[in-house]
Amino acid sequence: MTIIDGKIVAADIRKELKEKISELQSEHNKVPGLVAILVGSNPASQVYVRMKSKACDEVGIYSVVEKLPFETSEEDLLTIVQNYNSDDRFNGILVQLPLPEHINEDKIIEAISPSKDVDGFHPVNIGKLMIGQDTFESCTPAGIVELLKRYNIETKGKHVVVLGRSNIVGKPVANLLLQKKEGANAVVTVCHSAAKNLKDYTLTADILIAAIGRANFVTEDMVKDGVVIIDVGINRIDDDSRKSGYRLVGDVDFENVSKKSSYITPVPGGVGPMTIAMLLQNTYKSFLKSNNYNSV
Ligand code: NAP
Repeated sequence: MTIIDGKIVAADIRKELKEKISELQSEHNKVPGLVAILVGSNPASQVYVRMKSKACDEVGIYSVVEKLPFETSEEDLLTIVQNYNSDDRFNGILVQLPLPEHINEDKIIEAISPSKDVDGFHPVNIGKLMIGQDTFESCTPAGIVELLKRYNIETKGKHVVVLGRSNIVGKPVANLLLQKKEGANAVVTVCHSAAKNLKDYTLTADILIAAIGRANFVTEDMVKDGVVIIDVGINRIDDDSRKSGYRLVGDVDFENVSKKSSYITPVPGGVGPMTIAMLLQNTYKSFLKSNNYNSV
């Protein structure tokens, strides 16, 4: 059994990006820019935004965090997003979700220029992803595909079972792996909460991607020998032995399922670190496109 180490792969990607960005900077005296818009003071969102801007600093992406009060109106936020759309310093705009309830998330995402939508959430980019056109792939699904590629895990003709059909993980990862392309070309089944006898599906998976948000939900009796497990779930469970009083676990019972797997991602340290790495990669890609630079 091989543990798929997302921390190492993400660090490799950041190193590669840092080199490419530094080369472009010496050639053109320009670096990519990313603005993160944070509305309110949700503690988890604050942590995510901090991690993203730290990662930008590491690779040489110019990053700004636009912190807005919780009371910001939808109209004001729309204006702010539109201003960043026309601000050449920024190749990527991300609006940290969730937004306060008085703001319509769909409206805000649709206001971001698709050419700066480095989260890959804009309907135009999701549509392109679905029909196999070049686009900004949403970061967690792109990170999963990248992990499979970097561990040389064959996907062509394999049966991939995805648990979960959210717009940010389940649906886009299923669409990415379905494409008739290198690193994809799989036969994909998507399961959700209305699925009956889930085990009938999971037992036929060559690659099982769990993205449902239920601690240790996938047990060893649900998978076949040699399965590849990609665990996207991040769940807090009580743990008195920790100072924090909790620990993070995935959607898969790692201890027992790992014994039957050929490859498995841990939680934390599997898919998680890849999400930010892909955000950086998308920002770099946007920078290349908007300046008509070739990749170095
Ligand atoms: P979500 O929007 O809550 O969607 C969960 C999906 O799982 C839904 O499609 C739901 O079905 C399905 N589901 C729930 N219970 C099920 C069951 N018993 N059997 C079959 N399907 C079931 O979640 P999400 O945003 O995709 O996130 C999923 C997990 O991934 C969460 O733990 C989240 O924290 C984590 N996550 C991690 C990263 C990362 O960077 N590593 C990024 C994003 C999310 P219905 O559609 O029928 O309700």
